[in-house]
Amino acid sequence: MLLAAVSPSIAAERPWVEARSRRFTVVTNGSEGDARATLRQFEQIHAVFQAVAAGTPQDAGKPFTIIAARDEATMKRLLPAYWERKGGMRPGGVFLDDPTQVFVVVRVDEGPSESWSHSIVFHEYVHFLVQRQVDYLPLWLSEGMAEFYGTCSVEKDRVMVGRAAPWNLQLLQERAPLPIETLLAADASSPLYNEESRSTIFYGQSWAIVHYLMHGAKGAQLPRLASYLALISKGLDSVEAARQAFGDLKVFERQIASYIRGVQFFMRPVPTPNVPAEKTFETRPLPPAEALALQAMLHAITGRKAEARVEADDAVRQDPQVALGWQALARVNSEDERMEDAHRAATEAVRADPRSAVGHHLLGSLAWRRGDTATAESELARAIELNDALTVSQVMLAVLRNGLGRPNDQVIPHVRRALELEPGNAHFQLMLSSVLRDRGDTVNARLLVDRALRMARTAEDRARVQTMLAEMERAAARRAATRDAMRAAGSASSDAAPAGSASSDAAPAGSAPPGTPILVDDAHAFPMYRASCEAGEPRGCKAAGDALRLGRGVARDLAQAASFYDKGCEGGGAPSCHRLALLYSAGDGVSRDSAKAKSLFEKACKGGHQPACKRAAN
Ligand SMILES: [Zn+2]
Repeated sequence: MLLAAVSPSIAAERPWVEARSRRFTVVTNGSEGDARATLRQFEQIHAVFQAVAAGTPQDAGKPFTIIAARDEATMKRLLPAYWERKGGMRPGGVFLDDPTQVFVVVRVDEGPSESWSHSIVFHEYVHFLVQRQVDYLPLWLSEGMAEFYGTCSVEKDRVMVGRAAPWNLQLLQERAPLPIETLLAADASSPLYNEESRSTIFYGQSWAIVHYLMHGAKGAQLPRLASYLALISKGLDSVEAARQAFGDLKVFERQIASYIRGVQFFMRPVPTPNVPAEKTFETRPLPPAEALALQAMLHAITGRKAEARVEADDAVRQDPQVALGWQALARVNSEDERMEDAHRAATEAVRADPRSAVGHHLLGSLAWRRGDTATAESELARAIELNDALTVSQVMLAVLRNGLGRPNDQVIPHVRRALELEPGNAHFQLMLSSVLRDRGDTVNARLLVDRALRMARTAEDRARVQTMLAEMERAAARRAATRDAMRAAGSASSDAAPAGSASSDAAPAGSAPPGTPILVDDAHAFPMYRASCEAGEPRGCKAAGDALRLGRGVARDLAQAASFYDKGCEGGGAPSCHRLALLYSAGDGVSRDSAKAKSLFEKACKGGHQPACKRAAN
């Protein structure tokens, strides 16, 4: 009775059913048949999209749950925000890519074959897969592909690709086309790019060009698309790659215009013979506590904290073994800054399901926020042990360990794995870029920021990239000035290199093709740090000094360490001044000199290095 009072809609509702494959979980308050059919449709879509991406099949790396709502009332309860906004769009589907799980919400009464209601979900799913395959696609191609495949329809044993959606035809009819160069060069900062409404001509036109290249002239255009992609992956700019692959752009523009005027837009059936039959999927009635927990997590992810809290509380009261309920509770509490409650809920989540990587990830990230880095490190490491494809844990562990000053072999493998898993994730690229920068690999740090700038899809990501870029520009200017000064002084700085470790591969990324990050381990790190320091990057000097001071990847040599710190300090690196001050005050590698130490502590403090300030004051 009490439960019914708390959540009347749930108590009154039809039972939920779950169907599972290795890749997806479908839950529905429709029939078991609906669950099986929806699951099979997504498996078919996956088979078609994955074949296009032409890469090794990649898992999402995190739970992928499709909630199939039986009607509009269910949809409204799951995603109330869309119904609260007056005159707002009421979606036929939603795709939510949260760092720890994916939620897709669709209507089963509007199947993907009869209507267009799944297009928005399929569009986002294309982006989702592409982000896991390539580090960069020009925006027109990324959006054109997402529209081209997103508008497919799923039939019994095949997927129809190349359907012309009414909104794309309407855009092409009503709006003047963009000049081809403008379209090819557009990036995410363009006002033409709007993922909320997708109502600019940019989308319609990009879709039409992809359609022309994929299906035009019976597929005769496909080699041009392939060569464009090859040029892009070599680092060529979009317009230049188009000139080489598509020929004279004025001619190309006319070809597109006439293709659009022809309004043929042929569809192509893609058979899906290897997708298992509906009856082979495992199904079970979903216990009410689990259905509640799922909705709680969906609400937590979409910012409906009040609903999420009630449902999560209910779920774990009904069954304390439902880990997802605890996870949702941990999230809501953490968002409300109730850190003790959040920690307790995350601990319960791990107790209820010790094999859940997401549970350990939550516990680890909460520990980090409370300043308990030891627990954070061990829990994030445990999450990766359980699921090495959970990218967000890889990224966070790399950032955490970088901050804790762990050696490269405990940091770089996580950077490498994260980039392998989600090469096109702008947000992650940025975080990893600062790790590489701290480790002295300025070349690849810069490369990741450049990529992130091209790939950033949200305003938030763009702002973050631009801040970091501005920071790097300032550092580069500083480096250039130092280099010029050194050149003017005729100084050869190679005498700072310790004998024996000098190596000709010190120019780390110069010889590598763009797009190939070079990630360092300790043994290879030192020449890179040295090169970076010689180029005038104070962080490089600090890293080289640390390596020599700790004997990490090179023979321990405090005198050499001091000379790197000296250079870093001269170049404006406050942490280098601090390290050098410590060497002078202890007489390590240099003659003890407390006056010099004091002035270096002061310099470090003035440079913003807090730990030096106390020493400077003494
Ligand atoms: Zn899109």
